[in-house]
Amino acid sequence: MKPADDPDSGCLDYWSGGLGAEPTTIVRRDEKPGNGLVIGNTGLATTLPVRMGLSEAVSATLAKGRTAAIVVLKIGGLAQINHWNGYEIGDQVIAAVVRRIETCCQGCRLIGRLGGGHFLVVIDCQGQQDGLDREVKQLLTRVSASLELPNGAYFINGTAGASLMPDQGESADQLLRNAELALRSARVGCYAWYTPELQVSLASEVEIRSALVGALEREEFFLVYQPQVCTITEKVFGVEALLRWQSPTLGLVPPDRFIPVAESAGLMPELGDWVLRQGCCQASHWSRSGHPLRVAVNISAAQLEEAGFEARVREILSECELDPSLLEIEVTESMLVGLIEDNQNTLQSLRKLGVTLALDDFGTGYSNLAYLRNFVFDTLKIDRLFTSAITRENAGDVLVRAIIAMGAELGQEILAEGVETLEEKQVLQKLGCSRMQGYLFGRPVPASELEHG
Ligand code: C2E
Ligand code: CA
Ligand code: CA
Repeated sequence: MKPADDPDSGCLDYWSGGLGAEPTTIVRRDEKPGNGLVIGNTGLATTLPVRMGLSEAVSATLAKGRTAAIVVLKIGGLAQINHWNGYEIGDQVIAAVVRRIETCCQGCRLIGRLGGGHFLVVIDCQGQQDGLDREVKQLLTRVSASLELPNGAYFINGTAGASLMPDQGESADQLLRNAELALRSARVGCYAWYTPELQVSLASEVEIRSALVGALEREEFFLVYQPQVCTITEKVFGVEALLRWQSPTLGLVPPDRFIPVAESAGLMPELGDWVLRQGCCQASHWSRSGHPLRVAVNISAAQLEEAGFEARVREILSECELDPSLLEIEVTESMLVGLIEDNQNTLQSLRKLGVTLALDDFGTGYSNLAYLRNFVFDTLKIDRLFTSAITRENAGDVLVRAIIAMGAELGQEILAEGVETLEEKQVLQKLGCSRMQGYLFGRPVPASELEHG
């Protein structure tokens, strides 16, 4: 059904007119008979008319309380066709694609060209996502068929990304961006729907970097705490503080994603300082309320390398009135590379304060046993990789066994990370490891949940 056939569509559709001159020439057609073709050349190399059309279509669809898919369709190979066969042929391909789109989608509300081989299609549907899913699939199949032109056959392949209105954005701009994100995640020749996770996984470093500016002042960060338990006493003896970022534009961004960016942007000393202070204040609060818990805080290389780090820790401990033995500082092997002597001095002076030190992700980095000779750690944290291997792989326990034996020899506490199953817990216990952390005992949660849980 073409828009004009739908009495209550009230829609507009756009497509490229002077096709070779894309995207400056946009022709608009509304469905009133006789209202032909012309907005003509805007003189601007922008997609503004298409986006305006999208805004109108979004408003109209929302006003009617309907569901619609905003689809960004990418036609592969158009640049090559233009290059090898000339722009005239390229134009014919585009025109054919537009015709295919027009004729295959039942609820097609708008067709626009965003430039290059990118098209915008709005598909309206009375039903739910299922119906739209079928339409998007059909669109892709239809568009991707080979194309016969007078001078030969062309293979067209389409890839699409779609966002759902109104669930996945109420503004035209948001919906378009979400559909583009989905497109970036789709395999060539396939289509993908937008999901909130995409926002995070595909947000480029640039986006993260710019969203990070001022995030601390806007109080977008918070800490969650994951219990560390002793399986002999069945008691929680400590918690690990883990940083979370709730960005208003990117959603909940996992630390693995934003910490490296914050590090490269030079934001980590300040952010790490905030984590340290927050964690220490929380530990002090627990201690004063009669439930002392050691808080383990992750430190980044930038913090460790900053002059005066030890003095900073001392200052924070005193500000928060926290007994240093209730703070553990976690470092990773990779942070110890390089400035061995400086780091050694910093770490040793921290220990002298009474703070304990943990070597995080043990076994995943260089696993250079020299670190254990050069640096004194109170805790070795066995990485999740090994914890999960003990029950899954043949002889997966060999390394864990060796680490535990070595820890005992060096007087270090061994803590196994990422314990998820009862079986893992039992094997670890059998091997002599009684300190554990993992989803089996508790996920990282805000302090208030830990108190009530
Ligand atoms: P990490 O220090 O190794 O932290 C442990 C990670 O494993 C956490 O991920 C935790 O949620 C996850 N985890 C815990 N138990 C389990 C389990 O049973 N199964 C599975 N699959 N995962 C488990 P998270 O919070 O996403 O942190 C990732 C990494 O980000 C941390 O790894 C740490 O390297 C870094 N990070 C987090 N907070 C901070 C911080 O405040 N400062 C610095 N410098 N790095 C931080
Ligand atoms: Ca850690
Ligand atoms: Ca770890």
